[in-house]
Amino acid sequence: MKLEHIGIAVKDIEKANEVYSLLFNEKPYKKEIVESEGVITSFFKTGESKIELLQSLHSNSAIAKFIDKKGEGMHHIAFEVDDINAEMERLKEEGFHCLNEKPKKGADNKLVCFFHPKSAHGVLIELCQEIK
Ligand code: ZN
Repeated sequence: MKLEHIGIAVKDIEKANEVYSLLFNEKPYKKEIVESEGVITSFFKTGESKIELLQSLHSNSAIAKFIDKKGEGMHHIAFEVDDINAEMERLKEEGFHCLNEKPKKGADNKLVCFFHPKSAHGVLIELCQEIK
């Protein structure tokens, strides 16, 4: 597994883009709406990994609920795998609580699935695999 990106929940993605553009001295290379998740995202390159900013599009999204509960901040860590179905099954067998029945289409042309923070000492884990 390789660290693919870190997801950060933000209230206002335009403002956050400005701040992170200053931090990295570079604009986001991609902005994308993920209807299925109810979010708008932007991506910054940081060496081999990325930072994903996520803003909710409506009050029912997971990001809106997260911000209501915890405020803005780090939301998840994503790891890239070669075979997401196999890794999902392996982790389920190891007792990790998977939040998805099967991998679904996420941002950045990837199949993704999530594991409950309780399974990983308080960190929401995303697995992702590039769609080829
Ligand atoms: Zn992500």
